[in-house]
Amino acid sequence: MLPWARALRAAGLLRSAGAGAGAGAQRRAPRRERCGPGQRRWAAGPDLRHFLRAAGGEPPPGLELEPEPGPEPEPGPAPGSGRVYMETYGCQMNVNDTEIAWAILQKSGYTRTKRLDEADVILLVTCSIREKAEQTIWNRLRHLGALKARRQQQAGPPLRIGILGCMAERLKEKILHREKLVDIVAGPDAYRDLPRLLAVAESGQQAANVLLSLDETYADILPVQTSAGGTTAFVSIMRGCDNMCSYCIVPFTRGRERSRPIASILQEVRMLSDQGVKEVTLLGQNVNSFRDMSEMQFQSVAAPGLSRGFNTVYRAKPGGLRFAHLLDQVSRIDPEMRIRFTSPHPKDFPDEVLQLIQERHNICKQLHLPAQSGSTRVLEAMRRGYTREAYLELVHHVRDSIPGVSLSSDFIAGFCGETEEDHQQTVSLLQEVRYNVGFLFAYSMREKTRAFHRLQDDVPAEVKQRRLQELITVFREEAARANEAMVGQCQLVLVEGPSKRSALELCGRNDGNIKVVFPDAEVEDAAGNQAPARAQPGDYVLVKVTSASSQTLRGVPLHRTALSRAAACH
Ligand code: SAM
Ligand code: SF4
Repeated sequence: MLPWARALRAAGLLRSAGAGAGAGAQRRAPRRERCGPGQRRWAAGPDLRHFLRAAGGEPPPGLELEPEPGPEPEPGPAPGSGRVYMETYGCQMNVNDTEIAWAILQKSGYTRTKRLDEADVILLVTCSIREKAEQTIWNRLRHLGALKARRQQQAGPPLRIGILGCMAERLKEKILHREKLVDIVAGPDAYRDLPRLLAVAESGQQAANVLLSLDETYADILPVQTSAGGTTAFVSIMRGCDNMCSYCIVPFTRGRERSRPIASILQEVRMLSDQGVKEVTLLGQNVNSFRDMSEMQFQSVAAPGLSRGFNTVYRAKPGGLRFAHLLDQVSRIDPEMRIRFTSPHPKDFPDEVLQLIQERHNICKQLHLPAQSGSTRVLEAMRRGYTREAYLELVHHVRDSIPGVSLSSDFIAGFCGETEEDHQQTVSLLQEVRYNVGFLFAYSMREKTRAFHRLQDDVPAEVKQRRLQELITVFREEAARANEAMVGQCQLVLVEGPSKRSALELCGRNDGNIKVVFPDAEVEDAAGNQAPARAQPGDYVLVKVTSASSQTLRGVPLHRTALSRAAACH
C-alpha cells in the first residue's frame, strides 16, 4: 500500500472495499449526521479533501477545502422498500454505475419501475464532463421538481429525488442548498451507502455522501445488466483517473485510479458467458492503465513500457497485473464472445497488448485512441504527455501491428489558446489518420481543473462552434471514405436486433464496432447443420457490404456462422 494510503487508513479516512462477497460489510460505517428540514445540514462522509489533509498531501490545484462533517454515526437503516426510477446521463461508465447502484438497492428490498409516475424514488446518474451535460440535468431537475410539487398538492405518496455520480461529487453543496427538491446526493464511490441515504431521506431529511475512495471498485457487486436483447454487456474493470489532463474534471469527480481484482472480473465475464452474452466491453476511465495490485506476489513487478514517445504526468507505477494479462485471461473464457474495451489512454499500448489483439480472434480489432488535438503546442497545454509526432507514430505502429484495425478518437475544439493554425493541425490529423468513428466536442471550461486556474478560456464560443463544425465535416468525409473501402468485403456482424428504421431489417455491429444494417431474411447456417432461418439477436452473420456512409454499412446476409469458425476461414 502506498505510504499516503497507509496514513489515510490509519486516520480512518480510507474506505476498503476489497474483493469478494461481504467485503462491504467490513467497512467502517460512514460518518453521518441527521438534520431537520430547515437546517441546511446533511448526512455526509469525508471526501477527497479529507484524505489529502490526513495524508499531509497537497490538494490538486483548485480543490477547495470544506468544513469537517458533523457528529458521529447512528445505527444503520432498516431495509428499504418502494419503487425506484433511474435515469442515466453521460458515458458508458454511468450506464454501468446505474446497474451497480440498482444491484445494491435491489438487495435492500427496493423494486425498479420504468414509469416515472409510479416512482417513490427518482435517481439521476449524472455527468459533469461538460457544461452542457450539467445543464441538461438542471433542466430535468426543474421538471422533476414540478412533479414532486404536484404529488404534494394531491397528497400522494412522497417523492424522493436523488442525484448520483459525477455532478453529485462536484456540486454537492449547490445541489442541496439551492435545489431544495433534491433529497439524496451520492458520489460515484458512495453507492454502497445508498440504502442508508434513502432511509434518511424517507424520514424527510436531506442525505449526502460524496466520500471518494482509494480502492472502491464494487468488485463484489455483480450489476444486473445487459443490452435489451441480452447480447452485449459492460464490465467495469477500473475506476478513477490519475492523469490530470488540464481540461478534465474526471480526476476530481471520480477520484484516484484503482483497478478491480482480476478474479472478480473473470467471475463476472464467466457468468455473462453462461447467460449467453456474446460481447463484453471492459470499461474504465483509462481502461488500459489497469493494474491489479490485489495479489501480493505481483506487487513488485517492474512497470511496463508506455507507448513509444509517451509520458505520464505522474511517476510510472510499478507492480501489479496489467491490462495485457487481463485481456489474455478474459479472451480465453469463451471463444464465441467478442471482447472490446473503452476508454483507453493512448499512452498505455505496449507491444504485448497490440500483439494480443492481433492474435486473438475474439478480441475486436478496434482501438479508441483519443488524440484531443493535432497540435503539439495544444497537447502540451492539455498535459496529454505526447506530441503530434508521437501520436502519429503510435497510429502507424498500431496499423502495422493489427492490419485492418478500425480506429476512433476524441477531439476537443477551441481549447485555451488554440489558434487557427493549431486548429488546422487537428484538421490535418483527422485527414491523415482517417478514423472510422469520432467523438468531437467544443471545449467547456470546468472549475477546479488546471486550465480553469492557469489558462484563459479565450476562444470565443462562436469560434469554438465553427471549428467544431469544421472538424465534424472533415471527420465525416474521411469516415465515409474509410467505410466505403469496405464495400464488396464480407464483415462478420453480431446481430443486436431489428433496425430502428425498418422492421424488415436487422442491425448489428462488425468487429470494428461499425453499425451494419441488412435485410431480415432467411439465411443458411455455415456449418450446414441447420435449416435456413432468420438470424436472431446474438447470432453472428457474415454480411457482404454493398454500400457505406460515414456511420453505417449496409449489405446482404450470406450465412449464419460462429465467431471461431469465421476466424478460421480468414
Ligand atoms: N480517458 C480518456 C482519455 O483521456 O483518453 C477519455 C475519457 S474522457 C471522460 C472523455 C472525453 O471527454 C475526452 O477524451 C475529451 O475529449 C472529452 N472532454 C473531457 N473534458 C472536456 C472538457 N472540459 N471539454 C470538452 N470535452 C472534454
Ligand atoms: Fe480526463 Fe485525461 Fe483522465 Fe481522460 S486521461 S479521464 S481526459 S484526466
